[in-house]
Amino acid sequence: MSDLVLNKNLRKIQPSASILLMDKARQMKAEGADIISLAGGEPDYDTPFAAARAGIHGIEEGRTHYTAGRGIAPLRKRIEKKLAEENGVLCREVLVTPGCKYGIFVALMAILNPGDEVMVLDPSWVSYHAMVRLAGGTPVGVPLSYKDGYRITKRQLEQYISGRTRILLLNTPNNPTGRVMDEEEAKDITDFARKHGLILIADEIYEKIIFDGRRHISLGSDPGIAERVITVNGLSKCAAMTGWRVGYLAGSKELIDAAYMVYQHTMTCISEFSQLAALEALEHPETFAEMRDDYQARRDLWFDAMREIPSVSMLPAEGTFYAWMKIDKNGMDSGQVCDYLLREAKVVMVPGIAYNEAECCVRASLATGTADLKRAAAAVKKALNGAC
Ligand code: PLP
Repeated sequence: MSDLVLNKNLRKIQPSASILLMDKARQMKAEGADIISLAGGEPDYDTPFAAARAGIHGIEEGRTHYTAGRGIAPLRKRIEKKLAEENGVLCREVLVTPGCKYGIFVALMAILNPGDEVMVLDPSWVSYHAMVRLAGGTPVGVPLSYKDGYRITKRQLEQYISGRTRILLLNTPNNPTGRVMDEEEAKDITDFARKHGLILIADEIYEKIIFDGRRHISLGSDPGIAERVITVNGLSKCAAMTGWRVGYLAGSKELIDAAYMVYQHTMTCISEFSQLAALEALEHPETFAEMRDDYQARRDLWFDAMREIPSVSMLPAEGTFYAWMKIDKNGMDSGQVCDYLLREAKVVMVPGIAYNEAECCVRASLATGTADLKRAAAAVKKALNGAC
């Protein structure tokens, strides 16, 4: 055992389950296993051509140096315009970050003092609790339940507030449940945040992947709380640009300046050619809609297939490209179900426990070609209907 002394916060966190599973699936495939991975959290599409070309052009032109730390002016202006026109968010400042993930982290670092609490609505994305801990805070999970369709209520929120709560961190459309916050919930959340003087961090990374004509609500559009909302978004999911690493934070000058203080000492800026690609991608919302329509068709395909399996219950996703399923197989927990499905069906999914969920749900990513999805659905059906 080494005598190295490491950051104690590391002892409080686990590796990201979805990254571990994606790596495992990649390795198994490289070794020749015929498995279908539904673990990944990224679009299976190529980056739209116009955006990719703008990035390539940037490299050819030598746009490969540091840029203004907060992001190049045309991109920041374009994001401001997008937020005003599409989201009703009139922000004072924008900070371009390498993905929305790092944006959330710098926001937490900028706000939290040791012991401050952050309310996280569970099931929640795998990194929220870990990031809060790394930033020195204490995550407080607010358990939402399958049987209530993961509705957020004031009553539920009030049970988890304390004198140390500083932030409510939430994500809509939601990874992993696929739930989309409605107007009543948005009002409950903003009323609650105002009443307790909280800061809201609204992760809207799946904003454009929303189905059946639903409307995405940005909490920062409520003028009564806008000064205390940090809107987080990016191009990873809507424009299939996960590898370009472009996200952003938007909000009041005070909050974004604080985040930038952390950012400039830990990141400097992101690649200019990535920013140029993002700028171009924002000009082509039709490409987002095409992918969205396809995800919706896949959701329907998967839902119809899973409906035929007695041990599976499922609420059809309202957004995102995830299917969130409750599986009742011989009393197995979600980790055991995923192991079983990997062994018997050769399909990789992520167990609900990775999202702080205890009701034996699993998450399947439908960002996978239709042929593979059909093959995976048939294999899952066979495995779950069989004895084990
Ligand atoms: N937020 C949520 C809820 C996510 O699911 C993900 C990716 O899986 C991210 C943030 C990270 O996005 P980005 O690639 O912009 O860092």
